[in-house]
Amino acid sequence: MVCDICGKDGTNVKAIIEGSEMNVCNSCSKFGKVIKSYDRPFKKRFDKKFKKNENQKTPNEVSEDFIVENYAKIIKQKRESLNLTLEELSNKLNEKESLIQKIESGHLRPNFVVAKKLQNFLKIRLIESFKEKKIEPKTKESQVLTIGDLIKIKK
Ligand SMILES: [Zn+2]
Repeated sequence: MVCDICGKDGTNVKAIIEGSEMNVCNSCSKFGKVIKSYDRPFKKRFDKKFKKNENQKTPNEVSEDFIVENYAKIIKQKRESLNLTLEELSNKLNEKESLIQKIESGHLRPNFVVAKKLQNFLKIRLIESFKEKKIEPKTKESQVLTIGDLIKIKK
């Protein structure tokens, strides 16, 4: 829409100017009383709010990384599909062959450093993370006397 006053394109305000309803641009809206705005501020506000919520971490929520259960199978299958020997793979990762072998046979769960190396090199997913609602255990400390209790005792 074109501004009823200055003729500029990009009208986004409906305003009462000198008694009549007009579609005007932002700068012309100051000549009258704005009754409706089609401007973006609303969306901006919404985005901001949304982003804020997204970044907010619930204090009770903990995220934890862990090595997937079938890591051995995943590594072995991928290595074989790439036609790599254990030796080649361990050389590429700069790790001992015996270590990789133990991991691949399921005898040793890789630590995060090795798992990340394997993950990046073989393009597989070994590390997962889950979010869990932490349930605060009711310890004796949390049942400690409140001010109300103290007052009762004093009485
Ligand atoms: Zn205008």
